[in-house]
Amino acid sequence: MHPLVQHNLTRLRDECSGPQEFRRLMGEVAALMLYEATHSFAVKPVSVRTPLERTRGCQLQREVVLVPVLRAGLGMLDSILQLIPHARVGFIGLKREETTLRAMFYHKSLPLNLSRYEVILIDPMLATGGSAVAAMDLLSERDARRVRLVNLVAAPEGIRHVHSHYPDLPIFTAAIDRRLNERGYILPGLGDAGDRLFGV
Ligand code: URA
Repeated sequence: MHPLVQHNLTRLRDECSGPQEFRRLMGEVAALMLYEATHSFAVKPVSVRTPLERTRGCQLQREVVLVPVLRAGLGMLDSILQLIPHARVGFIGLKREETTLRAMFYHKSLPLNLSRYEVILIDPMLATGGSAVAAMDLLSERDARRVRLVNLVAAPEGIRHVHSHYPDLPIFTAAIDRRLNERGYILPGLGDAGDRLFGV
């Protein structure tokens, strides 16, 4: 893993990092992760005129839709938008039902048809994988064909669960941690990313 990602992720894990630092660090890691996640975006050749002459260049072949999963996904959104300012943004609100750990939707706002887009699903903590699978089910209903999942920290259980439903989904994560605890938190993890981000 890139040394800057390792450095920032360690600061994110540190319980002494308060919301302001946590937000900044999450943004920095998100930007580094995005670089990796967009590596295989298709480009098409275009012609461009410099002040001196005409030359060949490229532009992204497809429009991009960013889909942060609320709340924690918001922590990665701003810095990703700095890098892809022309992207559209959809939102998925998913809550974990505390007793069953099942993912429940409380908000959905997405383009009706996603077939022509590159979709980046942003969910910092891949724990049980329930939210990611629910989000992927919704994206598939909207005919998304090219989705990349970007996390910060993933549990092996979550990766297995997602890949058992969506074997071809590329997952980009800064770390694969040890396991989940009995409450569905990632160990060692970084705690509740949403709470730490928003200081509640
Ligand atoms: N969501 C979080 O924010 N943290 C975890 O450890 C698991 C799910």
